[in-house]
Amino acid sequence: MVSKLYEVHSSNVEWGLLVWRGIAPPKVELFTWLVIRKRIPVKGELAARGLLVDNNFLCPLCGLFTEEVSHLLFSCKVMWLIWMRCAAFWGFSFVGPNDPGTFFSSWHEANASHSANSIWHLFPFAILWTIWLLRNNIIFANGRLDFVQLFFLVRTRATVWFKARFPDCSCSVDDLISDPTIADKRRTFKALASVKQRWEVPPSGFLKLNVDGAMIIGDETTLEFVLIRSAYLSVRDPLFWQNLRPFDMV
Ligand SMILES: [Zn+2]
Repeated sequence: MVSKLYEVHSSNVEWGLLVWRGIAPPKVELFTWLVIRKRIPVKGELAARGLLVDNNFLCPLCGLFTEEVSHLLFSCKVMWLIWMRCAAFWGFSFVGPNDPGTFFSSWHEANASHSANSIWHLFPFAILWTIWLLRNNIIFANGRLDFVQLFFLVRTRATVWFKARFPDCSCSVDDLISDPTIADKRRTFKALASVKQRWEVPPSGFLKLNVDGAMIIGDETTLEFVLIRSAYLSVRDPLFWQNLRPFDMV
């Protein structure tokens, strides 16, 4: 077992090149981008803005610490174990991350000698997305944490996305879920030509809504997260709301 410790300075990282790679579903890459920028609606962030409807700001997974981005997705005890169990397939281990961006870049750098098409690079997307769905399931649908299921879902998502990207990979889904490293040992396949489409601001007078997922509960449809942008102002800018008129919502 090889153990490596990495420290990467986030100021030197081209985040767009690491995240917007077209290897995970677009909504998952968008979510990962927001994680790195610490802009997902965790309780700690909502409480800081006075938007938490109740006083329960604790992590829904452990109930011990404030739900911050770094804690929920990385340092929460079980979640960190998921990261380490996945890294262990390749014989890697990490120290705890200072922030999501640093860890994300460390993960990339740790196995940079492998092909850029290695399934290794899909795991951060699969882990972050699976933890986020679990978190929402616990909060909104009384779900519960099941480590075995969580670990399985992470490997399944990484495998399914990898097979979608590399359909001529000869490894079976079952084999990849059991040992994802076998994909690196049979790198004779080619990726589908990716369609790169960068996000663009909407035309003047319009708003663009990006939604990362939705749930249907009874007769109600609930959006999990919405990112709104106008042509000139971010939703985070107070001027955005001051200038908003009802018919701008298209
Ligand atoms: Zn926790």
